[in-house]
Amino acid sequence: MQDMTGVVPVTSMPYSQFKNHVGEQVTIKGAIHNIRDMSDFAFIIVRTARELIQCVYSPEFSDYRLTDEVVEQCSAKITGKVVPSETRDGSERYELQISNIEILSTPAEIPPVVISKKQVTCDLSTNLDYRPVTLRNPKERAIFKIQEGIQRGFREFLTSQNFTEVHTPKINFAGAEGGTNVFKLDYFGKTVYLAQSPQLYKQALVPVYERVFEIGPVFRAEHHDTSRHLNEYISMDFEMGFIEDFTDIMNMETGALQYIMNLLKTEYAPEVELLKVDIPEVNTIPCIRFKDAKEMCIKKLKNITDMKDFEPEEEAFLFIFAKKQYNSDFLFVTHYLSAKRPFYTMDDPEDPEVTLSFDLLFRGLEITSGGQRIHDYNMQVEKMKKLGMNPEEFGTYLMLHKYGAPPHGGLGLGLERLTMHLLGFKNVRYATMFPRDINRVTP
Ligand code: ATP
Ligand code: MG
Repeated sequence: MQDMTGVVPVTSMPYSQFKNHVGEQVTIKGAIHNIRDMSDFAFIIVRTARELIQCVYSPEFSDYRLTDEVVEQCSAKITGKVVPSETRDGSERYELQISNIEILSTPAEIPPVVISKKQVTCDLSTNLDYRPVTLRNPKERAIFKIQEGIQRGFREFLTSQNFTEVHTPKINFAGAEGGTNVFKLDYFGKTVYLAQSPQLYKQALVPVYERVFEIGPVFRAEHHDTSRHLNEYISMDFEMGFIEDFTDIMNMETGALQYIMNLLKTEYAPEVELLKVDIPEVNTIPCIRFKDAKEMCIKKLKNITDMKDFEPEEEAFLFIFAKKQYNSDFLFVTHYLSAKRPFYTMDDPEDPEVTLSFDLLFRGLEITSGGQRIHDYNMQVEKMKKLGMNPEEFGTYLMLHKYGAPPHGGLGLGLERLTMHLLGFKNVRYATMFPRDINRVTP
């Protein structure tokens, strides 16, 4: 038997190493992404995990002869000599002069959509229908590399701030947050619910770890087809104890966003460049009270009917305001009305009509809701009763308060929403690998 050492080295030489191997034979593994046959020679573009590598075939380079087996989307092992390539702008690039291609796997059919062009040009619905294929396009996959960077940044930053990463159940019996957008499920004859957020569990973990975070799926039965709602999305949540007040939460989010944007600029530079991402500056984020923001919107915009929340048009207006006034792409709106916030939200002792809560708007779109939670048992039970809820149904949740919890708060940040507006998409589905919406559960 062979011994397992726990190491599987990358056998393909990364493009970044090419400059150190000029004139040498190297081997790469990847998919044949594009073939441009120029009769006496051919450009063969190889797609590796994160790069496109230009290889050149010519009978002059070796005894190897190109065959019909080399087709787009076949997996191959390519060996060749690294040479500098001619570039229009004189920039330093390298290519491989092919000396051998070993085919590792052959596709059964030609892909139904063109993925070897600069970008996928079919409509969104077709793009999503063929997602396993369209994601191979470099621009499409770059979107989700950026998305990886966002979650990685969130994780790394919070870990550095003494947060513990947790995973809470997604199948819940009682104590769901309620409302109309919860999915019901038959669980061996009992009705259970898919988690709309990790809220109740992450709060329970504050007296355990003080600071916790979770990056995981949540489910919302959105009965509408909008450009910003999914039925399953990734929520980046955190909850922290011993806060002085709810601005601690906003500060922590500001730090996380600073870290994320920096990480994207550095370690995700190839994707940022490919997608021409406009990375926002996050120095300090301005704050405005809901009441003041609403008054401003009413003055500037006509036909505002919802006095308790913002309409998309108002959010767009607030973006212009934040940009003009503070040169910020982000805006915290605080002190939302108590009537509009969930039962666990702490009311402002100075004005119980409003809450110690906030939303974060990014370029005119809500990406976060957060705030301080009630930690006192009697206060929580009273609020539940006032809202017509039965505290007895929330026995497990209320253990948190009953057996002692520090002042605490937290937030939920929608990963796809942030990705969407960072990349300038008009529809959240572009920023979702395999979206679930009212009309789609496949692929
Ligand atoms: P909205 O008012 O836009 O429907 P919400 O206030 O109901 O959102 P929250 O419960 O505050 O949403 O969820 C926290 C964050 O999760 C939101 O700020 C947003 O980034 C994201 N989010 C909420 N619902 C969805 C959804 N259906 N699809 C994608 N992301 C969502
Ligand atoms: Mg919200």
